[in-house]
Amino acid sequence: MKIAVLKEGADGERRVAATPETVKKFIQLGADLAVEAGAGASASIADQAYRDAGATVADRAGVVDGADIILGVQGPDPASIANAKRGAWLVAGLNPFGTGEQGGRARVDAYAAAGLEALAMEFMPRITRAQSMDILSSQSNLSGYKAVLDAAAEYDRAFPMMMTAAGTVSAAKVFVMGVGVAGLQAIATARRLGAQVSATDVRSATKEQILSLGAKPIFVENVKGIEGEGSGGYATEMSEEYQKAQAELVSSHIAKQDIVITTALIPGRPAPRLVSDAQIATMRPGSVIVDLAVEQGGNVEGAVAGEIVERHGVKIVGHRNVPSRLAADASALFSRNLFNFLSAFWDKDLGRPVLDEEIGDAVRLTRDGQIVSQRLLS
Ligand code: NAD
Repeated sequence: MKIAVLKEGADGERRVAATPETVKKFIQLGADLAVEAGAGASASIADQAYRDAGATVADRAGVVDGADIILGVQGPDPASIANAKRGAWLVAGLNPFGTGEQGGRARVDAYAAAGLEALAMEFMPRITRAQSMDILSSQSNLSGYKAVLDAAAEYDRAFPMMMTAAGTVSAAKVFVMGVGVAGLQAIATARRLGAQVSATDVRSATKEQILSLGAKPIFVENVKGIEGEGSGGYATEMSEEYQKAQAELVSSHIAKQDIVITTALIPGRPAPRLVSDAQIATMRPGSVIVDLAVEQGGNVEGAVAGEIVERHGVKIVGHRNVPSRLAADASALFSRNLFNFLSAFWDKDLGRPVLDEEIGDAVRLTRDGQIVSQRLLS
């Protein structure tokens, strides 16, 4: 059983899909590990560290040659793994609904044509036993943390209240919109930095979580059908009545905020628009907005993926691939997600993983030359 670890090819991608720690663990399971030269460099892991852990280091064609499982953070260019054997597993965040160069349906079709079994880690079901395999959670948590640091770096005032001999500096007011995994970490991080934090979500279950982190919940009340929670704990799209009430509430609140962090996503749909240009115009100049949903269409009017733009004196931060900005920790957690996934299904007699139906059917995009994922076929 040979496992290949690729060096990422996408622009700005600094993460890697295996660390020396997970290399060692795979070897303990009986696998041979081959790591592409330079794969860990941008996450501060030298080739020698992989060798010390027991892996061989080679070029792309060398690591892919004869591999049974190919690991990536994002899906590789199909042409770059053309020598992969039919039936090999490709395990990565494959972004099958993506557009542009990275991900997208055309790539999935190419993986199918090459006879690969492509497993999309972001399709991991949200069930208790799969929590340790969930790349969306592990990476969102880091994004929420980094979003607050990015906001603090762009903000020309301090976060905590400071009482000094020269006078008092008041605490920053931070508003977090969308309290999933990223939002919860953003609240906790902003609190640690000493900000006054408030937060909102459409799922009323988050109210308790906001309070438990010492922040103030800002919620639409008295509108019918506000539960907002769909399957798997994800949000649903809200009624027009709710959206209007939410816009009014946000308008009155946002004008008093210094920092806004938006994280709201609805699976399979563009990100909901939560902050309008008119609302930005009411904020104090020098305020900062970080839109973590910018690559899914954006929560904030005027946000641009990959740029920091200024509107009405307010900076709107739209960094792409925020987890990659914390490449070392993001790689460590991503790699553990992959190891937890493959090791949970390891069949000792066969010396390879065998997936069960619940998780296998959820993550498998292609097999035997065909697209097999219900999410892609329906
Ligand atoms: P997400 O990334 O899909 O969305 C981020 C947040 O935006 C969510 O809280 C969502 O409710 C919110 N949102 C959507 N539309 C909004 C709007 N119009 N206004 C305000 N907020 C809006 O969510 P997530 O981070 O993946 O987490 C969703 C839930 O799933 C959480 O409760 C999380 O704990 C749970 N979860 C469970 C597992 C598991 O059991 N394996 C794994 C991950 C997450």
